[in-house]
Amino acid sequence: MNKYYVTHLECSMTGKKYPANEIQGLSEVGRPLLVRYDLEKIKKEISREEISNSKIDGLWRYSPLLPVKNPEDRVTLGEIITPLIKLKNSVNYNKEDKGLVLVKDEGRLPTGSFKARGLCLAVSMAKQFKLNHLAIPTNGNAGAAMAAYATHAGIKSTVFCPEDTPDINIREIQSLGAETFLVNGLINDCGKIVGEGKEEVGWFDVSTLKEPYRIEGKKTMGLELAEQLNWELPDIIFYPTGGGTGLIGMWKAFLELKELGWVKGKLPRMVAVQAEGCAPIVKAWENGEEHAPLWKDAYTKAAGIRVPVAVGDFLIIRAVNESKGFAIAISDEEIMQTRDRVANTDGCFLCPEGAATMRAYEKALSKKLITKQDKVVLFNCATGLKYPLPAVTNKLDKNKKIDYKVFN
Ligand SMILES: *Cc1c(COP(=O)(O)O)cnc(C)c1O
Repeated sequence: MNKYYVTHLECSMTGKKYPANEIQGLSEVGRPLLVRYDLEKIKKEISREEISNSKIDGLWRYSPLLPVKNPEDRVTLGEIITPLIKLKNSVNYNKEDKGLVLVKDEGRLPTGSFKARGLCLAVSMAKQFKLNHLAIPTNGNAGAAMAAYATHAGIKSTVFCPEDTPDINIREIQSLGAETFLVNGLINDCGKIVGEGKEEVGWFDVSTLKEPYRIEGKKTMGLELAEQLNWELPDIIFYPTGGGTGLIGMWKAFLELKELGWVKGKLPRMVAVQAEGCAPIVKAWENGEEHAPLWKDAYTKAAGIRVPVAVGDFLIIRAVNESKGFAIAISDEEIMQTRDRVANTDGCFLCPEGAATMRAYEKALSKKLITKQDKVVLFNCATGLKYPLPAVTNKLDKNKKIDYKVFN
């Protein structure tokens, strides 16, 4: 299945068309470009069974719905179909409830986060267009994923992180071959440096939504969910929202699947989850606005969602509204408590951003925004191992007599 169905790119704000066979960044009005496919033709030539029978384990099985023209340009580090894990103990199921809470564990992807999906596609397209230097601002995971894929493809990479990015992420990025810089600012300050250096250095800007292909990579979360659930989408998806690539990408996937006739019925309600210390989308959504101004003094331990301003703000809010979803903010205290509780009771190690979705699920239930009859998917976007963990304080002296009663 090496078929190629891209027709053009389209400005997400004005609808203006752009050629797909040229290097593209943002549209003329400074908004994200979306990749469009000849869905009618795909519908005639490919069935969802053909996809299900694919021998490829991972996102390249969806190649007819992806923008890479030649299979030789696919850069791969062994992407997998990430598992859906039922939360058995940390959710109270009553016998009569038809609902279910599943965690899609994206921490199993290369570089331990779902940023691998977006950067896998972005770097493959960079290879297709023979770009030789990529740059990115990051809170950690995007930089690591870009470094890994770019290095694998033999492309130079430069990464800018806020100086308080978790140490493990910064070291990971550098270890994976990127020139790595710490900046005394937030991710939007790093983004400015990348943007302003474009002319002089000649690097390509791979910032969230500032090139068209990371969305297509994140779109595969929606395609994968549909296929995994036997083409029956869940009722509600809780997504930890930073730049919003995943939420926008999944919503795009669902609309494409619907047009292909591969899924039927109602599409999932999309819920944007943010941290109370950085909740621009929640605030704008609550105020009934489509754009979210810069959030001042952004703070949260959930670094992946510390994004004070998003170029795709209106796309996130539109997807939330079109799907009859909502936006909700969670405090850092709740996030950390939830992470520890779910790890302790279900053996499922969520990252703080993933824990925010679990807490959002619980809050939404208590606010009656959802019910116990809903089939829910929570996104655990990175491995819990990338974050600081509570210290172990129990000590044992091997030279003293051990009182085994204490282990009961
Ligand atoms: C990037 C990131 C997010 C936010 O994802 P977007 O699709 O950019 O909104 C959430 N959690 C983690 C761990 C991340 O790395």
